[in-house]
Amino acid sequence: MLDQGEIDALRAAPVPAQKLFIGGKWVAGSQPPIDVISPIDGKVLTTIAQAGAEDVARACAAARTAFEGGAWSRMAPAGRKKVLHRLADLTEREALALTVLGIRDNGTEIGMALKAEAGSAAGTFRWYAEAIDKVYGEIAPTGGDVLGLVHREPVGVAGVIVPWNFPLMIGAWKLAPALAAGNSVVLKPAESASLSLLRLAELAAEAGLPEGVLNVVTGPGASVGEALALDMNVDVLAFTGSGGVGRRLLEYSARSNLKRVYLELGGKSPNIVFADAPDLEEAAKVSAMGIFRNSGQVCVAGSRLLVDRSIHDDFVDRLTSYAEALRVGDPLEVTTDVGAVHSLRQLEGDLQFVEIAESEGATRVTGGQRIRQETGGYYMAPTIMTGVAPEHRLAREEVFGPVLAVTPFDDEDEAVRLANATEFGLAGAVWTGSLSRAHRMVARVKTGVMHVNTYGGPDITVPLGGVKQSGNGHDKSLHALDKFTDLKTAWIKL
Ligand code: NAD
Repeated sequence: MLDQGEIDALRAAPVPAQKLFIGGKWVAGSQPPIDVISPIDGKVLTTIAQAGAEDVARACAAARTAFEGGAWSRMAPAGRKKVLHRLADLTEREALALTVLGIRDNGTEIGMALKAEAGSAAGTFRWYAEAIDKVYGEIAPTGGDVLGLVHREPVGVAGVIVPWNFPLMIGAWKLAPALAAGNSVVLKPAESASLSLLRLAELAAEAGLPEGVLNVVTGPGASVGEALALDMNVDVLAFTGSGGVGRRLLEYSARSNLKRVYLELGGKSPNIVFADAPDLEEAAKVSAMGIFRNSGQVCVAGSRLLVDRSIHDDFVDRLTSYAEALRVGDPLEVTTDVGAVHSLRQLEGDLQFVEIAESEGATRVTGGQRIRQETGGYYMAPTIMTGVAPEHRLAREEVFGPVLAVTPFDDEDEAVRLANATEFGLAGAVWTGSLSRAHRMVARVKTGVMHVNTYGGPDITVPLGGVKQSGNGHDKSLHALDKFTDLKTAWIKL
């Protein structure tokens, strides 16, 4: 049970000006510090350091030196396991403090953030700690006069660039497999959500991670992110964020050392409800959270509701009741269901999407407006738009806000056609009582993840990755180790 008093005490603590973490030392950035605005009240919370190109180069060089030194990269997997377990312990010990700190600069409601951020990060470090001394190489099926061995080696220096919506969770999805496999890392958090990851770096040092193995550079993507992505010391880039930046990273790779680039990008995920869904009330309740939690700022959000025409009106009514009952408020109040929109720019974009949808002929059923403006923070009422046609911008573009587009369908083929009528392919869901239809839909809808009779919840045991323009490569599960390891063949004549 969350204790409001404890949360209030943590939120009252001033946040000191932040520094960069390079080669195991906290250092000032060579560029002027940047204000961090809290979405809770629109006020300046603290400052983060702004790295210059020379700071980024030093961080990458420190990571390279640490990697070549071998204290971590050549440590036995069982040794890395111990350190990562300690990091998981420390993350758990600090879970509430880390979560509150993160919410103060990103705005996610605490009920969700505690599980999805610190809780999930601790679990992720523990999972890869446990996995890494159980991953074996291969012996090739050769003839008796030769021995073919396939080793898995760490890649070297990983550049990790993450967004603001779940910094700890997404950060851990990349840091844990990268570190477990023996790589060094230079991490660049989003400029508007760096605080919890900077604290995590401190905990990693306390856990015993050798100097230079994890470095954190903060500041704008266009300068700090670009310098990191162009750096010749970086061997692999693991990115989560928007498609536009993903495209740039591929260019930076081509312009520098052809480093590999793994992209986890956006989505416009279809949530498909058939009339034979086992429990329409449950479907409506879960679908509401599938789009509105964290104010819709979830990459896998079910932002397109495709619903059987025969139940359209009834289902929209049920969903609207749930949407209107959600308590949108201060993300640090335990009674809040949905917290703040991350920034004023994001909020303005969300509101503009509602206007555009209306001008294209969609109908606003509920929401669509800014609320709680008197707090100075950025809040938006959960919004449902019906009559959204596949060619409308609201059906095609990612809003990354609390705006649901509803489109009816007449049969299974049309549902599949609508579901796939997007450049994205990240996630989706199908609600049906027919096992055969469920399997057919999982196979026919082009996404990385399909839920059946639920939305959200896949844990660390399964991969998350996009197809089409939602990206390449996978976070989570043993498959994430593929990004951070090279296969090396030893061909030995006997
Ligand atoms: P963003 O692309 O604007 O920023 C992501 C990161 O890239 C930030 O750290 C930013 O500073 C950095 N960046 C910006 N410009 C850069 C440049 N030129 N070079 C290098 N780095 C640069 O995304 P955002 O607004 O922080 O996050 C929202 C997006 O992330 C949405 O599209 C969302 O769908 C996506 N996302 C995807 C997943 C997933 O798992 N597929 C998860 C969460 C979020």
